[in-house]
Amino acid sequence: MRMRKALIAGNWKMYKTPEESVQFVREFLQQLTPRSEREVLICPPATSLGVLKPLLEKSPVHLGAQNVSPEDEGAFTGEISARMLKASGAEYVICGHSERRNIFGETDELVNRKVKQTLKYGLKPILCVGEKLEEREAGKTWTVIQKQLSAGLTGITREQAAEVVIAYEPVWAIGTGKNATPQVAEEVHQSIRNFLEERFGREIAETATILYGGSVKPENIDELMAEADIDGVLVGTASLTVPSFLRIVNYQSKSQAGR
Ligand code: PEP
Repeated sequence: MRMRKALIAGNWKMYKTPEESVQFVREFLQQLTPRSEREVLICPPATSLGVLKPLLEKSPVHLGAQNVSPEDEGAFTGEISARMLKASGAEYVICGHSERRNIFGETDELVNRKVKQTLKYGLKPILCVGEKLEEREAGKTWTVIQKQLSAGLTGITREQAAEVVIAYEPVWAIGTGKNATPQVAEEVHQSIRNFLEERFGREIAETATILYGGSVKPENIDELMAEADIDGVLVGTASLTVPSFLRIVNYQSKSQAGR
C-alpha cells in the first residue's frame, strides 16, 4: 500500500476576526516544526482568508474555506464563489459539514454541486459525511454514510476523485466532547475506502485521504492517528488555541504507515 500523507485540518467555524486570525497564525508558525509527511490546514472564516494568505504563502501551512457557492457568480447576496476563495488563498473547501446540512438545510444534491464547483476551480473538496446519534442507535450508520457519499460524489470522474478528501464526522461527536473510539472510526473509514474502491478503483481508494472529525483533542489524537485508515483529522474546538492545535499537529506516531 502506498504511504498516505497525513492531513491535520482546523475548522475555525465562526470564530476569530481577521486580527485574531493573524495573531494565531504568527504564534503558531513560530512554534511549528514542519514535517514533510504531515500537511497542516487551517480553515478560518472567509473574512480571514485574505489576511492570512500572505502570511501562509511561504509556510508549510495551507488555507481552506468552510463553504462555497455552487454558482460561478451573479446576484446571490451573501454567497462567496470558488473563484473568490481561490483568489483569497484557499486550496481546500469543506463541503457538506454537518452544521451546514443540519442548521442551514443543505441537501445531498446541494453538497454535490458544491463538490463539483470546488473541483471546477482547481480546489480540493473535503466532503463531510456522518450519522446522527439516532441513526447510529438504529443501526443505520453505514446506510446514511453510503447515501451521503454516493450523492456527494455523483458525476465525479476518477481523475477528479483523486483530489477529493473525505471527512467522517459522526454528528453525535461534533462539539460534544464525545469522540468516536479509534476502533469505531476505523471501521467506518475502512467501509469508506471500500466504497471508493468499488466506485473509482483500487488506486484511488488506496491513495484517498480519509479524515476523522468529532471532538478530536490533544488527549485522543495519538490513538486516532494510530489507526491504519485514519489519514488525518478535522478539528473544530481544539484548533482554536495554539497550544492545543500544535499538540494535535505534533501527535505521537504509532502508525504502521510511518506518518
Ligand atoms: C468540526 O467542526 O468539524 C468538528 C469536528 O468540531 P469539534 O472538533 O469541535 O467536535
